[in-house]
Amino acid sequence: MDLETKLCQNCRRNFTIESEDFNFYKKIDVPPPTWCPMCRRERLLSWRNERTLYKRKCAATGKDIVSIFSPDGPINAYERDYWWSDAWDARQFGMEYDFSIPFFTQFRKLMERVPMPSVFNSTCVNSNYCNHVAKSKDCYFVFASFQNENLVYSSQCGDVRDSSDILTANSSELCYEVIKGMKLYHVLFAENSENCNDCAFIYDCKGCQQCFGCTNLRNKSYYFFNTPCTKEEYQEKIKEFDLGKRSDIKRAWTLFEAEKLKAIRRPAFFVNTTNSTGDYLDQCDSCKYCFGIRMGGRNCKYCMNGGYTLNDSYDTFGCGDNGELIYESVDAGLSGSRFLFDVVAYGGTNVEYSLNCHGSENLFGCIGLRNKRYCILNKEYTKEEYEILIPKIKAHMKEIPYIDTKGRTYSYGEFFPTELSLFAYNESLAYEHFPYTKEVIERRGYPWRDLPKNEYAITVHTENIPESIADVFEDITKEVLECGHKRTCLDNCVGAFRITPQEFSLYKKIGVSLPELCPNCRHMERIKRANPFFLWKRNCGKCGVSMETTYAPERPEIVYCEECYQGEIY
Ligand SMILES: [Zn+2]
Ligand SMILES: [Zn+2]
Ligand SMILES: [Zn+2]
Ligand SMILES: [Zn+2]
Repeated sequence: MDLETKLCQNCRRNFTIESEDFNFYKKIDVPPPTWCPMCRRERLLSWRNERTLYKRKCAATGKDIVSIFSPDGPINAYERDYWWSDAWDARQFGMEYDFSIPFFTQFRKLMERVPMPSVFNSTCVNSNYCNHVAKSKDCYFVFASFQNENLVYSSQCGDVRDSSDILTANSSELCYEVIKGMKLYHVLFAENSENCNDCAFIYDCKGCQQCFGCTNLRNKSYYFFNTPCTKEEYQEKIKEFDLGKRSDIKRAWTLFEAEKLKAIRRPAFFVNTTNSTGDYLDQCDSCKYCFGIRMGGRNCKYCMNGGYTLNDSYDTFGCGDNGELIYESVDAGLSGSRFLFDVVAYGGTNVEYSLNCHGSENLFGCIGLRNKRYCILNKEYTKEEYEILIPKIKAHMKEIPYIDTKGRTYSYGEFFPTELSLFAYNESLAYEHFPYTKEVIERRGYPWRDLPKNEYAITVHTENIPESIADVFEDITKEVLECGHKRTCLDNCVGAFRITPQEFSLYKKIGVSLPELCPNCRHMERIKRANPFFLWKRNCGKCGVSMETTYAPERPEIVYCEECYQGEIY
């Protein structure tokens, strides 16, 4: 089929489906989407709560647990290890498919019955307040990360130790406030940099040591705001900025922001990538509109975060690890294929509209199953029965679609409606990418949950948070600090925060002052600083060629096409 223009059911704007897209939909046997790519992204992300945590009791053992499921929400949660044990069987909640009511209504009923694991972690030691984290030790408030140690308040990290406040980094140590870093040692306030030691306030630097306030440098030492110095001059100059003092950090940050505006930027960060568009792609081929796909992606479109061999997939978040034919799914793969409309699926094949099912084959509308076959709404069938029922159910979904409170219809081929999500909109990643006010979110028919206020009385107001780390002692861990945003922002601000003993010793070790924002606000500040997962057409600042980039045309940064960038910087 040729290119087709359609009206998005959700935002009522036109979007195009290209002939390569039709080929994909045909290959996995689904009808083409009725929502545009951005609305599909928002709907998908509304089913992933990465970092909103609650305290509650395990529904089986009664133990106190930390969970991504609110205690006053509709979902039952088991402590993680109990959920993964053989002490219970999710088939006990199996339901007969009812051809008189919509599929999604039945699925939601099942959702309210089958317990979920408190968090999606695996093989972690002393890392309770984490989610979607694996093989980690002594981590606190770390999300979507693996193999880290003594890391706090960070997301998307691999192999990072003794660090705090990181958004996406690998193989790094003693770092603070880093966005997209690789092989950094004792680097503070850095973006898009790799292989650097003992640097602060750097953007797009590689192989540098002892640099401060610098951009676009390659293999340099002793540079101060992009000016070369002798070792002695450098040591004298950096004395102007004691990063143990908050006012000095702010002053350096202002100067650095101005320096950054002079930097030459690449349209996108690609490594060994061919025939692709998007940003942060590593070893990808023929990936379009993809972001954060690392260590191998091929023939993918609209995929975000993930990789490690993700092939022939569309509209995914956090998918891969030898996954293929994945469509509109969150956190699916792990040597699996043909996952359609799934949330959390590790291994298996031909799993549709399922939640947290692993190592299974031929499931439809199932929740919490492991190593099962031929199940619909958690009820087991013979292969023959299953093969007769599935086409009937797909036809039924078309005849009696689910209609949400705003009149949007969902038949076979649509992802789960946001209003039926496991999570409130503002608990989910949708809120990070599309941060609307509560009023707007409710007007759009999406659930909102007021986050619990920090129950402790504030003992140190923002203006009284000690200015210098030198003046802070262990007793700070007993105080309740006020967040500088005072719950007036759209960051899920909790108003107050504590400094944990682990965090306190990290700040001392790294040599940086105490923060004055709560962890949620700090995270959102980094999200806002990082470029969005969105592409605009813009002309190269040097040769004028048209290119696709995450920098909107009206933004003030200097953006060159890849060729012109390489000509200047390498
Ligand atoms: Zn739309
Ligand atoms: Zn806050
Ligand atoms: Zn805030
Ligand atoms: Zn150019």
